[in-house]
Amino acid sequence: MELVYRFRDSAAANVKPATLQSACVRALSSWAAVSNFRFRAPANSREINNIIIGFHRLSHRDFHPFDDPLGILGHGFAPQDGQAHLDADENCRLGHSSDTNAVMFSGIGGGQRKWTPTADDINGIRALYS
Ligand SMILES: [Zn+2]
Repeated sequence: MELVYRFRDSAAANVKPATLQSACVRALSSWAAVSNFRFRAPANSREINNIIIGFHRLSHRDFHPFDDPLGILGHGFAPQDGQAHLDADENCRLGHSSDTNAVMFSGIGGGQRKWTPTADDINGIRALYS
């Protein structure tokens, strides 16, 4: 299945847009390598997006306001919505697994980086989307 992603922010973050986009493309490539999904940028501005990734701050029109630094780091909405919101007041981090080594674990240590999906991540995406 091919999914189209786009970046759209409503707030500036302490991360350059090119840095976020590069990190997201790398992450999407990692997921594509272990699933049936393929990801690509839209061919033009009118193409429908399946995933919209961006930074937002405090109340940002989805009834799930962000807090100040720390606390809520980001949230996403399942298909058909497909939006992934990152708190512009944070230093980019994401989560969602009970395996502390997994990319999708709900927290990450300061300075720690997780680029490659673990077996738990792979089992998760395959269980959800095979
Ligand atoms: Zn939001």
